[in-house]
Amino acid sequence: GGAGKPTPLLIRILMIGDSSVGKTSLVLRYDKRGFNLRFTTTIGVDYSDRLLELDGRQVKLQIWDTAGQERFHSLTTSFFKRAEGFVLVYDVSNRQSFESVSTWMKDIVEQGKRGSDVVICGNKCDLQGREVAREEGEQLAAELGVPYMETSAKENLNVEETFGNLASRVKTRL
Ligand code: GDP
Ligand code: MG
Repeated sequence: GGAGKPTPLLIRILMIGDSSVGKTSLVLRYDKRGFNLRFTTTIGVDYSDRLLELDGRQVKLQIWDTAGQERFHSLTTSFFKRAEGFVLVYDVSNRQSFESVSTWMKDIVEQGKRGSDVVICGNKCDLQGREVAREEGEQLAAELGVPYMETSAKENLNVEETFGNLASRVKTRL
């Protein structure tokens, strides 16, 4: 008796990047249970949980998604401080959003937990009218020392891989 399931390891991920780059779409695509199981806190940050198994260990991935505060760069520091991982998204059809990546990265370094893991996503790679080449994304990510993924929330490209790889990296560190 008493052999309960061990508590899953909690990993918190914060979605960041300019407004309209596809952060919410990526989360909704990744969250198989869909829209209904997202919770909105009083401070306007949504979260969704997803259980996964990594190397035989149960992991609860809790993904925090902003509700528009990114537009004003007014995300409270506490979210940065509590996240173990960050998905930093830009839109390959919007150069301005790519140019914001360095600023977001600075926020992570200055306000985030020490040693937190980051992945940069060039999202909307399904679109024809690109303003940022794949190589530019790869180069910037290399300069910042973090992995790069080309994603499409619309076509479901690299979405599983983005969250899965990030969770694996965080888990190795914890
Ligand atoms: P957020 O403000 O960063 O959360 O962005 P949203 O997820 O709300 O997406 C903004 C707009 O971009 C919406 O109209 C989405 O349908 C669209 N969008 C998001 N991801 C993709 C994608 O991968 N490809 C395309 N073509 N459109 C996308
Ligand atoms: Mg959003």
